[in-house]
Amino acid sequence: MKITTAIFDLDGTLLNTLGDLCDSVNCAMLRHGFPAVTEEQTRQRVGNGVRRLIERCIPENKCTEAMVDICLDEFRTAYNERMMNRTQPYDGILPLLRALKKAGVAVGVLSNKYDVAAKGLIRHYFGDLVQITHGERPDIPCKPDPTSTLALLRELGGDPATTLYIGDSAVDMQTAKNAGLTAVGVTWGFRSADELRQAGAAALADSPADLLPMFERGLLHVDSICKAFTARGFGFTYFATAAEAVSYLSDVCAGKSVSLGGSMTLKALGFPEAFRYGTAVHWHWVRKGEYFQKPDIYLSSANALSETGEIVNIDGTGNRVSATLFGPKRCIFVCGVNKLCPDLQSAVDRARNIAAPRNAQRLGVRTPCAVDGKCHDCKSPNRICRAMVVHMGPPLGMEKCEIVLIGEPLGY
Ligand code: SF4
Repeated sequence: MKITTAIFDLDGTLLNTLGDLCDSVNCAMLRHGFPAVTEEQTRQRVGNGVRRLIERCIPENKCTEAMVDICLDEFRTAYNERMMNRTQPYDGILPLLRALKKAGVAVGVLSNKYDVAAKGLIRHYFGDLVQITHGERPDIPCKPDPTSTLALLRELGGDPATTLYIGDSAVDMQTAKNAGLTAVGVTWGFRSADELRQAGAAALADSPADLLPMFERGLLHVDSICKAFTARGFGFTYFATAAEAVSYLSDVCAGKSVSLGGSMTLKALGFPEAFRYGTAVHWHWVRKGEYFQKPDIYLSSANALSETGEIVNIDGTGNRVSATLFGPKRCIFVCGVNKLCPDLQSAVDRARNIAAPRNAQRLGVRTPCAVDGKCHDCKSPNRICRAMVVHMGPPLGMEKCEIVLIGEPLGY
């Protein structure tokens, strides 16, 4: 389902504000002879509004209500003067916001930073790429209370089912949960991936570019994808990270004979080197023209997976696709989420218009698709796609045929 609305957190998500926040806190701290705070300490203490930030920075034995009020005023004066000194958008945020605008996604920002500063920063750095910004306002509870989030959602005309709440902290994940929205954690900000996972992030993004596919196709619905494959008789296992998948594959293959077809995905995962001692590994092409066709396990990636449960592969020589059909006792297709397509037709399109051109470019083969990245159904003597195999179910006679899906982009 396409995502139509985005609510972003500000500090640590869109803008790296740490330097200016730290400098402004220290203006207040040093005026009273309190120890200066480091950027790392500031990073750990932001997220619940500036009052909490100041409370956490004043030494405990001096932290009275009156002192917090004074330091807060001094912080605000300092921050108003310097909030654009060192602050910068994270790499990739501007292209992301431009792409969202072009796609018609309504974008709002919700921050626990005081309202004037939040609005000023968004206007300065992003102009009309953000439609509505709200910071901390009197009489409206801060995040993680959902009041301000739900009000912003209404102003944006958003539907909770097609809205993503994107932030870098546990407070953000909790805010999304309280408002009934899908929480996406970003790992480039002020908090760790573990904290975001534990706080209930439905997905993580390691770079702004990771967010775009989430808008185009919605979040992964692993359960329904699993159902589509298992209903056809395939095995199916999902791993959120490549490291977990490598551990699973190493265990499954230990002590077995394994053949690998050429695969950028398996290469990216570190195979065959990642196999533990005791696994007899054969590259599929042992000697030119001679294939090790009957291993215990054949490992391959796929050019595309359909969310309706089909596996699509194209091949030039045919050794790779034939080994996924006949010979091995077990076949495992290892794929990143970038291989998923909504249906069989789009999976075939992906194989011809994304996987084949990129493989032709990688191999230095002169095909029309290598030039412009599109399939021309060419009659070239160099044509690399001479067979296309669609697995609609596990081949008869094979003990097990399974998909290992990894929640990261891998291969092409
Ligand atoms: S048919 Fe030709 S142009 Fe199309 S993907 Fe294959 S090699 Fe490329």
